[in-house]
Amino acid sequence: MMVSQRLCNRSLLKLSEKLLTNIRHLTTLRSSIAAKDYDLVVIGGGSGGLACAKEAVSYGKKVAVLDFVTPSPQGTTWGLGGTCVNVGCIPKKLMHQAALLGEALHDAKEFGWEIPDPSTLKINWTRLVEAVQNHVKSVNWVTRVELRDKKVEYINGHGHFADPNTVIATLKNGTEKVLKTDHVLIACGGRPSFPEVPGAKEYCITSDDIFSLEKPPGKTLVVGAGYIGLECAGFLKGMGFDATVMVRSVVLRGFDQQMAGLVTEEMTERGVKFLHKCVPVSFEKLNSGRILAKWRNTVDNSEFSGEFDTVLIATGRRALTKELKATNAGIDLDNNSLKVIAKLEQTNVPNVFAVGDVLQGRPELTPVAVQAGKLLAARLYGKSNNQMDYTNVATTVFTPIEYGCVGYSEEAAIQNYGEDNLEIYHAFYKPLEFFIPQRSPARCYLKVICLRKAPRTIVGMHFIGPHAGEVIQGYAAAVKCGMTFDQLENTVGIHPTVSEEFTRMVITKRSGLDPTPQSCCS
Ligand code: FAD
Repeated sequence: MMVSQRLCNRSLLKLSEKLLTNIRHLTTLRSSIAAKDYDLVVIGGGSGGLACAKEAVSYGKKVAVLDFVTPSPQGTTWGLGGTCVNVGCIPKKLMHQAALLGEALHDAKEFGWEIPDPSTLKINWTRLVEAVQNHVKSVNWVTRVELRDKKVEYINGHGHFADPNTVIATLKNGTEKVLKTDHVLIACGGRPSFPEVPGAKEYCITSDDIFSLEKPPGKTLVVGAGYIGLECAGFLKGMGFDATVMVRSVVLRGFDQQMAGLVTEEMTERGVKFLHKCVPVSFEKLNSGRILAKWRNTVDNSEFSGEFDTVLIATGRRALTKELKATNAGIDLDNNSLKVIAKLEQTNVPNVFAVGDVLQGRPELTPVAVQAGKLLAARLYGKSNNQMDYTNVATTVFTPIEYGCVGYSEEAAIQNYGEDNLEIYHAFYKPLEFFIPQRSPARCYLKVICLRKAPRTIVGMHFIGPHAGEVIQGYAAAVKCGMTFDQLENTVGIHPTVSEEFTRMVITKRSGLDPTPQSCCS
């Protein structure tokens, strides 16, 4: 009996071993067949992912793009296209424009337009949100059509790694689709992070919610003074809402701090309140529907509280790599940020690449993601050697008075080159359009940082004033080409513009001379 039992066990063991070998063999076989399913699977249909996918199909590659939006804690969700289109640059710039138009109405009266008393005019928030969302939805639609026309397979599913060549897409109905691929591109971007403070997730909104908020935000507290926080506070105040910004350490960290100071001063003058050196303690929903916010001053630990209709958290963004199960594929992540570490957009796993906001140490900007995505596809499939150049990327902060810059901040330039090796030209100026409505030009200021030694190569340009993005974009091309201060001086300006002020700079910081404006036309 015992012997026959042992024999039976042994043959069972053998059978299961054989079965296992067969399964392994089948899996390998399936992998080798299925590996031909896709040349490239892109996880994330935002700026970087879509750019890479569209470029890859132009080389005849078979590409799938997975895009899935997990609802915000407040339940907001959106369509294809990623952060920029849905909850970033596009709705933000439209709301900034709405605020600028309000200002222009005041100016218009001074220019002779017979309009009702501008102080009686007010924004219709619902109408604005509807217009903004209609535009966003039209972009979602165009993006889907474009993908279909270009034969990029769009999968509305959440992707995670099973292994470096296998991505699992979880579809809306919970079913899973296994995608076998030669290459994977991680382009999953990030989402707003919440501070570990009671009530933050339950009662506060973020930039994910503000652009589709159904009711007017009313009196708003913005927690965080990065560019997203400042821009939101800026357009809300411009539309007539009470806006307060809570600043933990500095305003616009990473940007030139002199310029950040001017932006803050200007916003303060326009009525935005700043709570400097303060951190949130708790948020509580009152019976009235308002939020009771408590905060603490980090210098003397004193505590404060206030009631707000809306609290918008803008304390940073986190990369979505945890949900991606990037570790299943053995992908190296930065310990602190959990962002993907990559050299030339290639991770430590040779067939896995990453672009956009998810990349460690790279600017979180749409054109950066787009450019890196396009160049990567051209290198992978088009025999190109062109690498992404992350230096001298221009950017603009769309605060009520805009701030555009390219290259080094003054602090970073000093750190990099040493103060003695730099010449910094600066000037205040008066935009012509400001005179008639008597707008204050007090913070219209520009600065050029160049090397002191010939040929005085320009390493940074900073501009505060109207249309800063338009102004700085052109100069960014020149800086990229290695423009020197002599060349800038020899450039003939376009009169009368604000951009020409860069061609009229004569005063250096070193000279100690007053940089306030000279005459307008000589
Ligand atoms: P995203 O555009 O974020 O795309 C990632 C996509 O992947 C998203 O749709 C996401 O839902 C999806 N996804 C994530 N994980 C998964 C997964 N596991 N499976 C499937 N799908 C997934 N940049 C500028 O240049 N100019 C501006 O003025 C500007 N303003 C901004 C204003 C705000 C309020 C914000 C939040 C951002 C702004 N940005 C701006 C930054 C810009 O939006 C980002 O740099 C850009 O969108 C990054 O592109 P991306 O491709 O890396 O990621």
